[in-house]
Amino acid sequence: MKFCSECGGSIELRIPQGDDRDRYICNDCDHIHYINPRVIVGCLPVYEDKVLLCKRAIEPRYGFWTLPAGFMENGETTEEGAARETWEEARARVSNQHLYRVFDVPYISQVYMFYRCTLDDGLFGVGPESLETALYTEQEIPWDEIAFPVVRETLEAFFDDRRRNEYPIAVKPIRFRRPPKSD
Ligand code: ZN
Repeated sequence: MKFCSECGGSIELRIPQGDDRDRYICNDCDHIHYINPRVIVGCLPVYEDKVLLCKRAIEPRYGFWTLPAGFMENGETTEEGAARETWEEARARVSNQHLYRVFDVPYISQVYMFYRCTLDDGLFGVGPESLETALYTEQEIPWDEIAFPVVRETLEAFFDDRRRNEYPIAVKPIRFRRPPKSD
């Protein structure tokens, strides 16, 4: 952040009085620009013994498969946001939503929330952020082409839970893992 969105003044990073961490503060109007974590909301749409996945048409992880998910918008609930993203990415309507997985990812200041839900009438299409979409059984899922570890973990947990017919909610922190050395 370089300029104040309130007055156009210059911005400096310093600790405001009474605070305990650096904030972006306007040198002219003293406005404090707080930057807080972002919430990503998504669905795990289920139809019969299959789940709905989307092949990403955008970076990062272009061409890899994921659950429909995206940034929560202002003025909506997490449940509404997850359903909206499912419509946008897979042209699918969902119902019977149950919170299933929450992932805290502090090193990138993000929170992921996935809802288990029913894919209404088994109907879906392809939204502009997807190359294609498909219903997959556990055996059919392209496990080596899943875009993100949190998606893979959510899918694996779902199929395990389905065998038990119990779907407990889990909240999990994802800690930064150093990438393997390449020399
Ligand atoms: Zn300002």
